[in-house]
Amino acid sequence: MSEKSGLFSFYFRSNLLVRILGGLILGAVFGIIFQHADTAISILTPLGDLFIRLLKMIVQPVIIFSLIVGTASIAPSRLGRVGVKIIIFYLFTSFIAIIVGLLVGNVMQPGQGLDLAGANAVVKELQSPSLINTLLAIVPTNPFEAFAKGDVLPTICFCIFFGIALAFLREHSEERIRIAADTTYKFFEGAAEVIYKVVGWVMQYAPIGVFALIFVVFSKQGAEAFGPLVGVTIAVYIGLVIQLFVVYCGLTFLFGLSPIKFLKKVRAPMLTAFVTRSSNGTLPVSMETAEKLMGVSKGVYGFTLPLGATINMDGTTIYLGICAIFIANAIGMPLTFSQQGVVILTAVLASIGTAGVPGAGAIMLLMVLESVGLSVSSNQAVAMAYGMILGIDAILDMGRTSMNIVGDMSGTMIVGKLEGEMDMEVWNK
Ligand code: ASP
Repeated sequence: MSEKSGLFSFYFRSNLLVRILGGLILGAVFGIIFQHADTAISILTPLGDLFIRLLKMIVQPVIIFSLIVGTASIAPSRLGRVGVKIIIFYLFTSFIAIIVGLLVGNVMQPGQGLDLAGANAVVKELQSPSLINTLLAIVPTNPFEAFAKGDVLPTICFCIFFGIALAFLREHSEERIRIAADTTYKFFEGAAEVIYKVVGWVMQYAPIGVFALIFVVFSKQGAEAFGPLVGVTIAVYIGLVIQLFVVYCGLTFLFGLSPIKFLKKVRAPMLTAFVTRSSNGTLPVSMETAEKLMGVSKGVYGFTLPLGATINMDGTTIYLGICAIFIANAIGMPLTFSQQGVVILTAVLASIGTAGVPGAGAIMLLMVLESVGLSVSSNQAVAMAYGMILGIDAILDMGRTSMNIVGDMSGTMIVGKLEGEMDMEVWNK
């Protein structure tokens, strides 16, 4: 693939996003033209399945490595007042975000009437575990069994324990232990980079996989499948707008700052996030905004913004909630109340584990689906619905990354104000 010459050079040189979107559009167009084309469907189905298998292959390693690195990178010694406040703020707004996502999803019910399961094989009866059992089952009795079986919540639970312990040991008084912990940390950091590289390769296949999955949907369903896709996009953006105007502006106001000023100042990072679709990539712009336009001291934003770009993804949380509802509806198995309870938990945790790079949220969606018994690998209808979401991921990613960043900015500003670390002259300018 590094040899970008010959027949495939055009493929690898063109923009990946354009290719994925192209796969979606071509899949839809050909699917609509060739209605109920059984031969084409049987040829393309394995190509779609291959994509789903590749995704499944990376999801557990992505969760394990990025969560361990994410939690271990929070240095306990820096967790002073600022750290505790910002973590509470980030968790609180992520929790509100998933509630917003589920509310919008329940009101708008995206994906209803799509009936992917009816168009396909029988869907297995979904088990809806009771909430208390789900909570207990978060603690694995054998973490390695959880890893191997792909049990998402127990995996996350163990990785968080491991990550926090690692964070403490990296600051241990004994040098021997400090060095060992640092080596362990570096190992996981390296492993995370390696798996992101693999993710990149899998994504090179995404356009073909998406084409195959979407072709099958449209060939079986006809043009009616468009409506639900537009519906889910609108639902996600409504959720994001509510989070912006009600939650962030509301909190800004509550802490005695002007929401109008906040919105004006936050424009540049918000736009940068929209076009780059990367929280990490936006960091330089958000840091400059925090300092030059908001007057927050470096001691605060130097910690809160990088941390936010790693663990605070409110836009992604909203997206996860709404897309879970979409996919469950699309296969004719709407999420029950207790399943939604599980989504609250997994979406918040998944957003913490989401890397601040383009498209990371879509991988985490697999994990949220898995946690409510919607398995992409064993259920063809779920795979098709997921393929549809993936086809429009770029559009959804722009909006959610924007709100991920606005969430970090609002937390930074509010903690700065609470700590008296905000230059009001700069803010009032
Ligand atoms: N692109 C997002 C970010 O960088 C993560 C996601 O895909 O949800 O914040």
